[in-house]
Amino acid sequence: MSSQWIYLSGEFVNKNEAVVSVYDHGFLYGDGVFEGIRVYEGNIFKLDEHLNRLYDSAKSIMLQMPYEKEEMKEIIAETVRKNELETAYIRVVVSRGMGNLGLDPSSCSNPRVVVIAEALALFPKELYERGVRLASVSSRRNRPDVLPPQVKSLNYLNNILVKMEANQAGVDEALMMNDQGYVTEGSADNIFIVKNSTIYTPPTYLGALEGITRNAIIDLAKEKGYEMKEQPFTRHDVYVADEVFLTGTAAEVIAVVEVDQRPVGDGKPGVITNHLLSEFRKITTTDGYKVYNKDKVQVS
Ligand code: PMP
Repeated sequence: MSSQWIYLSGEFVNKNEAVVSVYDHGFLYGDGVFEGIRVYEGNIFKLDEHLNRLYDSAKSIMLQMPYEKEEMKEIIAETVRKNELETAYIRVVVSRGMGNLGLDPSSCSNPRVVVIAEALALFPKELYERGVRLASVSSRRNRPDVLPPQVKSLNYLNNILVKMEANQAGVDEALMMNDQGYVTEGSADNIFIVKNSTIYTPPTYLGALEGITRNAIIDLAKEKGYEMKEQPFTRHDVYVADEVFLTGTAAEVIAVVEVDQRPVGDGKPGVITNHLLSEFRKITTTDGYKVYNKDKVQVS
């Protein structure tokens, strides 16, 4: 692709010219919201669900979205078309906009809307065969009454700090607890455990984002006849689980094979994890919003 087009508050601009002000409160204070969305063969996966979460996040922080959901949907689809993408990752960012140096958002009158779409390949197959390793981290998940983890805000320092802890421990991802010691999520993914064929994931009120992939997996698990419970659990439950996996837009469904140096089950991706991954992949090209009409002729 010779050029990459970025949607920036009303126009498409070239990647090099896609800039926002240093006075934008998104930059100054992390004041804004965002979404990470995936396109599978021209299908924007679960676009409605992503938009609902984006608008809920904006409402929670009293950020007035400048477009209706339907307009936003078209803007996102057009960004994919403009960049002639079939399989892609989309980042939608809505910042509070330009204001003065004070943190009071009432000086910001124009939220900025940015949509970036980039080509994306699936994660390497080996990663799914090998699985990932986790370490529990000392930093707690933001308390829901401080900065609600259900709000997908631009303030990701909590997540960044635990990612750094995981890096320092030499593992792939962090396992975050809340201030009562209950398991919440990873730095950028939700967690599930399997024990005696029952699947568990923490309720989001404990301190987790309501992941779109998480919800899709809960639905699929029930549909396929598994016992599926949203229930609090501790680090101990993770240590003694038969299977552990993470879910997220980027990772989809990925097996965890080690937690704090304890092997999970037999140390290999589990049967239920693999089953849910394959069921999940089946819906990625159908469940969502089609960017191109079906009879589009592919010119290569
Ligand atoms: N938790 C956090 C903190 C995240 O940033 C993400 C990624 N958006 C997830 C969970 C997974 O959510 P989703 O399945 O919607 O990508």
